[in-house]
Amino acid sequence: MGIVRAIRCGTLFDATGAPPLRDATVVVEDGRITAAGPAATTMVPPGAERLDLSDRFVMPGFVDAHSHISIVPGAGDQIGQLRQGPVPQALRATANLRRDLAAGTTTMRVMAEENFLDVQVRDAIDAGVIPGPRLLCATRGITASNGHGRAHAAFDGVDEIRRGVRENFQRGADHVKLFATGGVSSEGTALNNSVYSRDEIRAAVEEAHRVGKYAAAHAHGGLGLRLAVEEGVSTIEHGVLTTDDDIALMKERGVWLVCTFSIFMHPTGIEQGDGKSPAIMEKVRWARRMVADNFPRHLASGIRLAAGTDSMHGLMHFELATLVRLGLSAHDALIAGTRGGAEACRVEGELGTLTPGKRADLLAIEGDPLRDIDSLQRVRLVMKDGKIHADANSTHTD
Ligand SMILES: [Zn+2]
Repeated sequence: MGIVRAIRCGTLFDATGAPPLRDATVVVEDGRITAAGPAATTMVPPGAERLDLSDRFVMPGFVDAHSHISIVPGAGDQIGQLRQGPVPQALRATANLRRDLAAGTTTMRVMAEENFLDVQVRDAIDAGVIPGPRLLCATRGITASNGHGRAHAAFDGVDEIRRGVRENFQRGADHVKLFATGGVSSEGTALNNSVYSRDEIRAAVEEAHRVGKYAAAHAHGGLGLRLAVEEGVSTIEHGVLTTDDDIALMKERGVWLVCTFSIFMHPTGIEQGDGKSPAIMEKVRWARRMVADNFPRHLASGIRLAAGTDSMHGLMHFELATLVRLGLSAHDALIAGTRGGAEACRVEGELGTLTPGKRADLLAIEGDPLRDIDSLQRVRLVMKDGKIHADANSTHTD
């Protein structure tokens, strides 16, 4: 038997959709939840270590459904950062991931790195060498020679894509990340074209499905987004230019929309890093306008939602607060940041809710985020796999 803990919670938000429970107990054994319910009726095993969070709002750890470990957008030239050698990248990743975990992200889906950095860092975290969230890895992004997101690796034509995807899986990838359209942070790529042909996109999806995995597409809108959805990708990343028709098609196909607002909306994101480029700043302003105009409708459409910081480390609270500012209820924003992310990343059997059998990944928040979403900035304790993260009761406020 490992450590048994009984955690007394002021409020328990388990992310199942059930109403929050006042005065609850969560029992954790060997890193997993074995019971969760009203304090009055939940059996605490004899000898359990007590953890008093009776003045806290307890919820699942955040699942950041789209990030990169080595990038700091505010430092500018994200592709240049990806082109650096593995040592500066690994050092930046170490600092970034410490910050993510302290701010409540216990699981992160990594959406492309060079040098198979993400797999090696994932292994280092699992071995306890550095602190960080549990990582789900894309390894190299599948992008074209002239595509957005291209640092070193590029794959043109069906055969190169098949080889690239297969090599990624052989090196330890959990999913495929494919770049279907241009992006905000690069000059000379359009947000609504399609870099890849239908056959190329289909090849990437097929190779993923053949080994029981899935493909995610970076796509803002237009033809690239349509082709990606039609050819069977499971998640659309960013989707800033999505139309009502796109959303309807995504709903019909059960495709997730992974929102990533902070990188172009927060002042320390692309604006700080690459705002000197008029072409990039124009795309940033356009993206902000499109989100303000269209996302209140998209978020209300019932589409399946997850949230990602896209390298804005420690800012999951800002992502979820932005969902609320765009009209989503605080309850649904908390779900998007926890269970939604777990389902989008296909780890909902292990993560995303505070229910028996799941891994004990939980946060203690000061305040009530259901009333004031900005309380998510006050993460006072982070538990991952039943272990309390040492940096946890940080007081960062950005
Ligand atoms: Zn990204």
